[in-house]
Amino acid sequence: MATQEQRTSISWDYAPAPESREHVRLRDSYGLFIDGSFQDPVDGTRVASVNPATEEPVAEVAFAGPEDVRRAVQAARAAQPGWAALTGLDRGKYLFRVARLIQERARELAIVESMDGGKPIRESRDVDVPLAAAHFFHYAGWADKLSFAVGGRRVEPLGVAAQIVPWNFPLLMAAWKLAPALAAGNTAVLKPAETTPVTALLLAEILQEAELPPGVVSILPGDGATGAALVREPDIDKVAFTGSTGVGKDIQAALAGRGIPLTLELGGKSANIVFEDAAIDQAVEGIVNGIFFNQGHVCCAGSRLLVQESVAETVVSKLWGRMERLRLGDPLDKNTDVGAINSREQLHRIEALVASGEEEGAVRRTVACSLPDRGFWFAPTLFTDVAPAHRIAAEEIFGPVVSVLTFRTQAEAIEKANSTPYGLAAGIWTDKGSKAFEVAAALQAGVVWQNTYNKFDPSAAFGGYKESGFGREGGMSGLRPYLHVNPRAATARSAP
Ligand code: NDP
Repeated sequence: MATQEQRTSISWDYAPAPESREHVRLRDSYGLFIDGSFQDPVDGTRVASVNPATEEPVAEVAFAGPEDVRRAVQAARAAQPGWAALTGLDRGKYLFRVARLIQERARELAIVESMDGGKPIRESRDVDVPLAAAHFFHYAGWADKLSFAVGGRRVEPLGVAAQIVPWNFPLLMAAWKLAPALAAGNTAVLKPAETTPVTALLLAEILQEAELPPGVVSILPGDGATGAALVREPDIDKVAFTGSTGVGKDIQAALAGRGIPLTLELGGKSANIVFEDAAIDQAVEGIVNGIFFNQGHVCCAGSRLLVQESVAETVVSKLWGRMERLRLGDPLDKNTDVGAINSREQLHRIEALVASGEEEGAVRRTVACSLPDRGFWFAPTLFTDVAPAHRIAAEEIFGPVVSVLTFRTQAEAIEKANSTPYGLAAGIWTDKGSKAFEVAAALQAGVVWQNTYNKFDPSAAFGGYKESGFGREGGMSGLRPYLHVNPRAATARSAP
């Protein structure tokens, strides 16, 4: 038995717990997924997708040129009537199959997601991949009940959906976009982000295995030019975009006058509000999850922490203590809390905004931890003495950086929380239910979490106000943007 002296000298550290990559079956090179098969680009290129934690290539991937985009849209157009003519029950069966195949390949998908994007395996394994499967399950269930989602009206699919997704939740965003579109009888052309195309291509393999009819989904990796070419295509009936507010505005301008419905899920600068009556330790966990989950690469990240002045010192000191215990490093290690920054460009954006915070007079604290020699890394950072006008309080940093502001009264909290051009999400920490409801009703935010943060469910609608976009994804509301709804004709009891 250890003596008291021996016990105090024991150093409790984590042993490395790397996830094995042995069973991951990646091809050296992936083509474009068009009309049910992987094809060489006609006027595109081939680019290596890089692991941001090691800067080593994960796989070579074809990028689509404008002619490739046209071929994919034509394939989607040709496949759409047949897909829409299936009964909802049959479309649902395909979606169930896809969901089950995602579950079967869950471990592999999680590893590849972490390799390609830099996020900790704990998150890709426990959040991204299960939620991606859950979205397909959820919308599989809706496929034969569409009219029930719109008050019993008759519905029809829109046609061909052009879908563009970002790099922060590559597989999950693909599922958010594809599952409702397909359930509603549309076909889709999906463009994954330039830095994280690989899990979308594994999803293409899954669609093949599920024997989804050719052309129902095409997947076209590419850069911004590929996305722009897709939006310019004349033969599309719907655009759904998740990404930055700037690109969202460009897409809106490109669609002006064309009568094509658009869903935009854009940036945010969400307020996480801690009242003095909150359970502080629980709130601190929520703050950490709100901003350091996925290195802060989250559109709804709680990047503006609003703390009631009477508890500000306690909250900041507990938060800092917790931040010092976060483990940064190898995304494939099961102990890792904070992985790699998704790309060198994103790292530079974070560094520039953090430098502006210091220049403008906020007080910076960055966790002292050793950063790996290769790859893109940014240690968890906390700013205090932040004024609402500082760039770090106003602009989306999209990194592991939290800006702390204080307030005295409930009214001041609401005013500060709403004083942003964004309106995506918010968090409220209080033990008073009435206060939570009152504040939630006054916040201009699409999602408000109470005594929790960053919780997602396929049955819950997600989307923003103001410069955070419009339209909803998830749940019943997520079907509406993919349907024509006949305003008068009600269906009989049965749905399509
Ligand atoms: P973008 O908005 O540029 O990228 C989102 C998607 O749009 C990507 O697939 C991108 O391709 C594509 N795209 C880029 N330009 C165009 C265009 N002109 N027409 C059509 N599609 C286009 O985001 P970034 O990757 O540049 O990130 C910049 C900032 O955006 C981040 O710092 C963050 O603040 C914010 N952001 C917000 C997200 C959210 O979930 N709300 C997600 C990602 C970023 P490609 O990958 O090749 O650029």
